[in-house]
Amino acid sequence: MKPTGPIPPEFANQRGDLAIAGRPATAWASAGTPLFVYDAAIVAARVARFRAAMPAVYLHYAIKANPHPNLLVAVAPLVDGLDVASGGELARALAVKPANAISFAGPGKRDPELEAAIMSGATINLESEGEATRALAIAHRAGVTPNLAVRVNPDVELRGSGMKMGGRPSPFGIDAARVPTLVRDLVASGANWRGFHIYAGSQALDADAIADTQAATLALAARLAEEAGHAPPLVNLGGGFGVPYFAGDRPLDVEHVGQRLSEALSTRSTVLKKSRFAIELGRWLVAEAGVYLARIVDRKESGGETFLILDGGLNHQLAASGNFGTVVRRNYPVVVAHRMGADAAETVSVVGPLCTPLDRLGDRVALPRAESGDLIAIFLAGAYGATASPAAFLGHPPALEQVAG
Ligand SMILES: *Cc1c(COP(=O)(O)O)cnc(C)c1O
Repeated sequence: MKPTGPIPPEFANQRGDLAIAGRPATAWASAGTPLFVYDAAIVAARVARFRAAMPAVYLHYAIKANPHPNLLVAVAPLVDGLDVASGGELARALAVKPANAISFAGPGKRDPELEAAIMSGATINLESEGEATRALAIAHRAGVTPNLAVRVNPDVELRGSGMKMGGRPSPFGIDAARVPTLVRDLVASGANWRGFHIYAGSQALDADAIADTQAATLALAARLAEEAGHAPPLVNLGGGFGVPYFAGDRPLDVEHVGQRLSEALSTRSTVLKKSRFAIELGRWLVAEAGVYLARIVDRKESGGETFLILDGGLNHQLAASGNFGTVVRRNYPVVVAHRMGADAAETVSVVGPLCTPLDRLGDRVALPRAESGDLIAIFLAGAYGATASPAAFLGHPPALEQVAG
């Protein structure tokens, strides 16, 4: 038997039928399976917790974590900005938020994407000098003043993060040493320089590691601003707030991060005195709000082990199969949806319908007895689910998605 991760707090103490936004999983599943259900009220609760815990910084939602249009409608009014990573995400963001609250990061932005951002008035977080040159040329041709920020490849990295994105050679951002020159060039060109974007990593659960990184990021922003001779209107301090996916993971102490950030901001360098600050979060806001529901198609024994075979697998929820950025495969929290809180009766492996041994959503997990036709629920499905999975692989139908609230 292998342990599973912790069930998110909104579901952890439920008994009997799993309720998602007050409605039984079986009722949600009557629309068809496999199905993602996202509870917007849980996202709102995370936003409220952030606001209570953190000093007065902007909260941005990195929509790549979950860009479902109905979820964006619910979340956009709760946050101060949306961060997008493609022209497609930009279009979705513009449908729910004014352009001056949208920023566009990501390497390899094509000319039509830069043009769409410039014409809309969204801020482009420049990832290279070459991109800066192309953006300025597009804006010049169109006769508009572009809103441009500089993404810095920091010389700090987020300790203990699942995905490091700083402190080394990187396709993301511009090496810190070259940033002051670029800022001066942007200002001289007449562009509206919006400030810095500094992103050091993702999925960190250690509050002090995040706070240390934020403090180092503030110091870096101050140093670059002084060298450039220009104060940044906005410093996007990155994010990296993680969620507990696996056994032994402890939830992030956001209140501690907030306390330490308040201290760091109160002693910040003079050059940053008038700057605004932003934190951009994806998974921390939405991961725990989503549940993936799949139906057991077959129950079989092989070599003394029991397999529950679902109607969906890594084609919809790649992350739960351990094939999206994790080194060791561990189990997400998984339950039999109408037996919440029931004692485990057996050890089973929960697999999807794809012809690959990678398609395993629960590896030797202890569950109450379940039969063909029963529903399995996998938690932490609100981030990097449907849009981060190879839906076309093997030609099964895509998962349904529903937003509650
Ligand atoms: C992916 C990404 C995010 C969101 O990361 P989470 O781990 O979902 O919070 C935020 N900012 C940038 C620049 C990213 O690339």
